[in-house]
Amino acid sequence: MSQSFDLVVIGGGPGGYEAAIRAAQLGMKVACIEKRIHKGKPALGGTCLNVGCIPSKALLDSTHKYHDAAHEYAVHGIKIDGISFDVKTMQARKDTVVGNLTGGIAQLFKGNGVTWLQGTGKLLAGRQVEFTPFEGAVEVIDAKNVILATGSVPVNIPVAALVDDVIVDSTGALEFQDVPKKLGVIGAGVIGLELGSVWNRLGSQVVVLEAVDAFLPACDKAVAKEAQKVLGKQGLDIRLGARVTGATVKGKAVTVKYTDKDGDHEELFDRLIVAVGRRPYTEGLLAADCGITLDERRFVHVDGQCRTSVPGVYAIGDLVRGPMLAHKAMEEGMMVAEIMNGHHAQVNYDTIIGVIYTHPEIAWVGKTEDQAKSEGIEVKTGQFAFAVNGRALAANDSAGFVKFVADAKTDRLLGMHIIGPGAGDMVHQGMISLEFGASVEDLQLMTFAHPTLSEVVHEAALSVDGRAIHAVQRKRK
Ligand code: FAD
Ligand code: NAD
Repeated sequence: MSQSFDLVVIGGGPGGYEAAIRAAQLGMKVACIEKRIHKGKPALGGTCLNVGCIPSKALLDSTHKYHDAAHEYAVHGIKIDGISFDVKTMQARKDTVVGNLTGGIAQLFKGNGVTWLQGTGKLLAGRQVEFTPFEGAVEVIDAKNVILATGSVPVNIPVAALVDDVIVDSTGALEFQDVPKKLGVIGAGVIGLELGSVWNRLGSQVVVLEAVDAFLPACDKAVAKEAQKVLGKQGLDIRLGARVTGATVKGKAVTVKYTDKDGDHEELFDRLIVAVGRRPYTEGLLAADCGITLDERRFVHVDGQCRTSVPGVYAIGDLVRGPMLAHKAMEEGMMVAEIMNGHHAQVNYDTIIGVIYTHPEIAWVGKTEDQAKSEGIEVKTGQFAFAVNGRALAANDSAGFVKFVADAKTDRLLGMHIIGPGAGDMVHQGMISLEFGASVEDLQLMTFAHPTLSEVVHEAALSVDGRAIHAVQRKRK
């Protein structure tokens, strides 16, 4: 007899595993089908835990510590002679962190009674799911509800097809066992900047080739400008308006051809990372008669609460519209689990945080100044630099600023944009403020502990009305 479940989740990434656990907490009989084999073993956790958020942050943290020890400690009076690093140890530590976390999800599944079906899932008509295990016979499972959570994969471009460990995507770039002397990166997006930073800190000469003329066009302009300056100073050679036309591998080197406003160029690199975006992954997922519709960009089409065109079938995470972020996938998973149990739930897509984990970090929530203006809102802004913050100076880590965007008529906060130390954590203050519909005055009237980096948040709010204390303000009120 075929197995049956209240819920079958296809894909065990952050979207899928959180949905599975929440649904099990709510009393459903849940299975999660996951086909990933990572380093020879079946693994839960999806892109994020295995080849995304976590391994990239492990390498970012290790290389940041090395960079600080090598270049920043001396100013604190700490001298380290003969400092060196070992890439293999860094990589092994990263693998341990990943293994611990993915193993932790397996334990959470066990503890919550979620059945992990190891293999491939395919949605059939009538809410049935075909399960092809790694070993054994194919079976058809009956599901009262299905969540499609198969995520995304890197976009490949024909002008720079992947070649062994020389032309790689983000997954390959997390596995380098030595430091490339000269590293090319195609794409100055989130992955290009994070992984470019990792290898730059260890001594690679990093050249980032970006097709578009603008740097980080989704960020607030002031932040993007500062980021370009700071990252450039660190040694990232970011070339905008550079369109790659070819890449040829010879031995262990790659010649990259690209065109920009000055004409055609050719440059030799030891390795090349292709980081030009990701696409939704639906290969083998949908039977021809399953009834699911895709949108024009091949994302699974869903409504505002992740319902697909088939009743009882939902889709979440990177597979559907919206930013390709782990926390967005997780919240959608939780929302769907609640909805299928008759609860009210929603994701506030207006307060999804973006973070780029360079140093300094870049983080934002809500509208940029330009976005608000283009929506016809009369805007007021305030900005305050870490350079005059006591705690940032004490730490010798004072690049960047906090910027607020607010409605000039109502005082309501519309957006928070940060480049600076701890930006990825600090931005949550903006997210909570937006969720509660805070005004700038609300933030102005709150007491922030001294000395903390968060005082820059307070001063940025004060500066919206020309009231910041630790800077001479041009506009006064
Ligand atoms: P995924 O995590 O992609 O999981 C989908 C899973 O489904 C995969 O494990 C896949 O094997 C499985 N699957 C696919 N098809 C089938 C099938 N037919 N049957 C069974 N299983 C199937 N986001 C952040 O928010 N913060 C970060 O710092 C961050 N860093 C990143 C760094 C890198 C290098 C990359 C590549 C991505 C990063 N992301 C980050 C993005 C983040 O990883 C994704 O947004 C997130 O993983 C999406 O979650 P998901 O559950 O939708 O899909
Ligand atoms: P991205 O969309 O952030 O950046 C891709 C960049 O490549 C863009 O700037 C684009 O203009 C450029 N590009 C595209 N085609 C090009 C070409 N032919 N030549 C040169 N440049 C080209 O994509 P990504 O960096 O690959 O990341 C993929 C996804 O993963 C993102 O959506 C992101 O949300 C997610 N991610 C998030 C984090 C994080 O939250 N910190 C980290 C890594 C990845």
